[in-house]
Amino acid sequence: MSSPLVSRQVVFADRDVIELAQASVPEPGRDDVLVRVALVGICATDLHLLAGHIGDPFPLVPGHEFVGEVAAIGENAAAVRGLSVGDHVAVEMLLPCRSCARCREGRYNLCERDDMAAGLPFGRQYGVNIPRTVSPGLWGGYAEYLHAPADAIVHRLPADLPWERAVLVEPLAVASRAVARGRVRPGENVAVIGPGPVGLLIAAAARAAGAGRVVMIGTRAQRLGLAGRFGADAVVNSRETDDLAGAVREAFGDTLPDVVIEIAGVAAAQQDAVRLVRRGGRVVLAGACGAAVPVTFHADEDLLTREPDIVPSFLSAGGFEPAIALLSRGEFPFETLVTHRFGLDEVADAFALIRDRSDGVIKAVLDPRTTQKETRR
Ligand SMILES: [Zn+2]
Ligand SMILES: [Zn+2]
Repeated sequence: MSSPLVSRQVVFADRDVIELAQASVPEPGRDDVLVRVALVGICATDLHLLAGHIGDPFPLVPGHEFVGEVAAIGENAAAVRGLSVGDHVAVEMLLPCRSCARCREGRYNLCERDDMAAGLPFGRQYGVNIPRTVSPGLWGGYAEYLHAPADAIVHRLPADLPWERAVLVEPLAVASRAVARGRVRPGENVAVIGPGPVGLLIAAAARAAGAGRVVMIGTRAQRLGLAGRFGADAVVNSRETDDLAGAVREAFGDTLPDVVIEIAGVAAAQQDAVRLVRRGGRVVLAGACGAAVPVTFHADEDLLTREPDIVPSFLSAGGFEPAIALLSRGEFPFETLVTHRFGLDEVADAFALIRDRSDGVIKAVLDPRTTQKETRR
């Protein structure tokens, strides 16, 4: 880089305050990668952040579903990572410390380090809880540039993977982890509760894992209508039945599923997940319900006498490798999930669209290079 770079960024300055700002971009140090963001997905988490539902992250550059290309790279980073300028990459949202007990056992999504008091972002998440005040302030994907230090987990993406497909890598990695946590074996029946973008991707990941029958359960007819294209054999609209267990049993051919994966992020769906799985089956709770939502179960009827394994699945650890492979294979029409594209100056419009669930929106993305709205179907 010859002339000093600046990065346009969206900043959540405070609760419900969106600003457009610029940050200067330092030359990357020996161990650093500077990523030019190509596309960043808008996640429901981002709306919760702006509303102040998650921690106290302000001022924050949001965005954790980013893909882009290497804009500049330090010489150590280039050697260690085998990357060079122009390579397409994805950076995992969690910045692990790589030294705590959880990191060392491979569960870096549970990294126990938190040195924010010392200004160190390890154990924190890009676009969620690394404030912009931490140097160099390039910690979110709603921006032109992003900083990846030595400990960041950077994945190379195939150069021929179109950005509109690649931008789904983080939600698909979340989906892949949820399926892995459910230990879905070939031939096993899987129910997915919550046909949002990640739910549809879970259906695809379960199908790719060799699931026998996959059934999508939800309340929104439009999204249930997409499930078949992402590997579901049948759908159940829980609003259209008084006997959900009966409808699910019927959809699986008179049996209950071996695995139920919940991604709706509401307490009732988590209760349904436990009640709909077969005796001794596995339940994966992957939906974020928001702060302090209690979920209650019947100790004997739901749990003790039915002995389900109930495992939460948090973030995407270990999920990027299968996600990149699945995106590359092209078995599912992933890019059709990206229904809307906005510029950095249109975040408020994009959030309103998502909040109102209008215009058939499934996944909206930001393109940091454009400022003109270009609505796609
Ligand atoms: Zn997300
Ligand atoms: Zn750690």
